Amino acid sequence: MKRRELLIGSASLLLAGCDSPAPELTGGWVGGANAARGHRLRAPLPKAGEGPLRRTKILIIGGGVSGLACARGLSQAGITDFALLELEDASGGNSRAHQMGGMACPTGAHYLPLPGPHSQEVYQLLEELGLVSQQLGRAVWDERHLCHSPQERLFFEGSWHEGLLPPPQTPSAVAQQHLFERAVEAAQATLGFAMPSRRARWTPGHAALDAETFAAWLTRQGLHEPHLLWYLDYCCRDDYGAGIQDVSAWAGLHYFASRHGFHPANSNSEREAVLTWPQGNAFLTDAITAPLAEHIHPGRSVMRVEPGKHQVELLAWHEATQSPERWVADQIVFATPLFIANKLLDQTLAPLKAAAEQLRYAPWLVANLQLKAPLLQRTGAPPSWDNVLYASQGLGYVDAMHQSLKPQAGPTVLSAYWALPQARRAELLTQDWRHWLRQVLADLSPVHPDLADQLQRADLVRWGHAMSIPVPGLRSSAALSALLLPQGRLHFAHSDLAGYSVFEEAYTRGRQVASGLAAQLGV
Ligand SMILES: Cc1cc2nc3c(=O)[nH]c(=O)nc-3n(C[C@H](O)[C@H](O)[C@H](O)COP(=O)(O)OP(=O)(O)OC[C@H]3O[C@@H](n4cnc5c(N)ncnc54)[C@H](O)[C@@H]3O)c2cc1C
Repeated sequence: MKRRELLIGSASLLLAGCDSPAPELTGGWVGGANAARGHRLRAPLPKAGEGPLRRTKILIIGGGVSGLACARGLSQAGITDFALLELEDASGGNSRAHQMGGMACPTGAHYLPLPGPHSQEVYQLLEELGLVSQQLGRAVWDERHLCHSPQERLFFEGSWHEGLLPPPQTPSAVAQQHLFERAVEAAQATLGFAMPSRRARWTPGHAALDAETFAAWLTRQGLHEPHLLWYLDYCCRDDYGAGIQDVSAWAGLHYFASRHGFHPANSNSEREAVLTWPQGNAFLTDAITAPLAEHIHPGRSVMRVEPGKHQVELLAWHEATQSPERWVADQIVFATPLFIANKLLDQTLAPLKAAAEQLRYAPWLVANLQLKAPLLQRTGAPPSWDNVLYASQGLGYVDAMHQSLKPQAGPTVLSAYWALPQARRAELLTQDWRHWLRQVLADLSPVHPDLADQLQRADLVRWGHAMSIPVPGLRSSAALSALLLPQGRLHFAHSDLAGYSVFEEAYTRGRQVASGLAAQLGV
């Protein structure tokens, strides 16, 4: 056989379920959460030994967006005596990047909507990074960082359509879209929603929404049109890692009333602009990390936190030297997920234990697919940054080269996203990468039959506990609210405090903790 036939043959075998993919096809697991380091917490504690005892006033555990925001806040307040310990070899958490064939691509978070009126801290960050400036009282954005047009498209009933909302096909489908639009407007007008979410007052009306699933609420509103329901489910899976049957009605409405808006196909409202970069939100975390490098200690897996009367002792594992490291601090900031914070503490903290028991985490898979050449295209809307297939298992893919200013399409990396049910976490953590690649290819190939043939390499990322799901009751949780206040010398900054995970929540919470600490220190 000729080489091309061989390649096609082996790619088809891969799709057909053969366990040994083509020798030309390379890939594997990359980045993501280092499960081996994370699971070190379950192992017996090492003896601390006689190594040097490091002292610092404030110790931040976790270098995701929230930990980095806290570090930036401390530094900008003029506090220099602080350190940040991060388990991975690089900071960024869920907002880190990868490289394939010289092209940057995301391993997790990949966009940020333009900040609204309640996101002052995020706006200030973007202004400090030079992404936006005030001109004649208006925010003027640097266009290089705004998602280039076309932004998104949906493969629906045999062709691509602009936008992600399936085009309504009957007058009653149009009416259903407008019914939902009015419901979102009414919820915003009567209750109020904000981003970050805790900037909206919490009322009995919010609590009632938080008590039921979004699916139940939609049914009560008389919303049943299948294409609309698919879209609402897709949006929830995309931001919350779980669909309308799992998230609360508060979360479902919050998505549309605060961060994204709802844009019926035939209305005049425009889809909001988003900021995005080939490397995803690592653009932001790298920019925050750079000036703080002397304070950031990567490759330190914190194993134990022991609060005392006058100070807090901490035991970390230094991954490079495979040895324990002891730290002492006046104040500790937990910028790790709350279930990890709960495991790290040597004593029970009632609200932390209760919150950790209430939180549910969605596992996620990100498949970065390096392509030799652009894919053949079906009819309809042209290739966009975000490309979604109606009723597919995955959440579609973003094109890392979309933001490049090259006039012609060429090799690229497509990042396909899957939010998985919690029941598939074990499968995600134990199965070979080929098992998952086969599923990703099978999901996309009906629309892109040449995908397997164009695939040069596949680097997959797995997140066992990617983000907390805003299940009914979580936002009303007294335990979660209690952790907004310092617990003695312990402070909590992670996006888990919001009950769900987006950049704005993580960044704002990290800054709030830093402001509280600065006030406590009188600076
Ligand atoms: C696949 C995926 C896609 C996403 N897409 C978007 C998006 O497009 N836009 C968006 O706004 N948000 C997105 N998100 C949400 C994202 O989680 C938030 O934007 C944000 O990055 C969360 O930051 P964080 O600091 O709260 O948490 P994390 O990123 O979870 O940070 C926690 C940090 O703590 C560290 N840590 C854990 N245990 C220890 C320990 N024992 N010792 C030391 N360090 C430890 C971790 O390594 C990690 O760096 C996405 C998330 C995922 C998983």
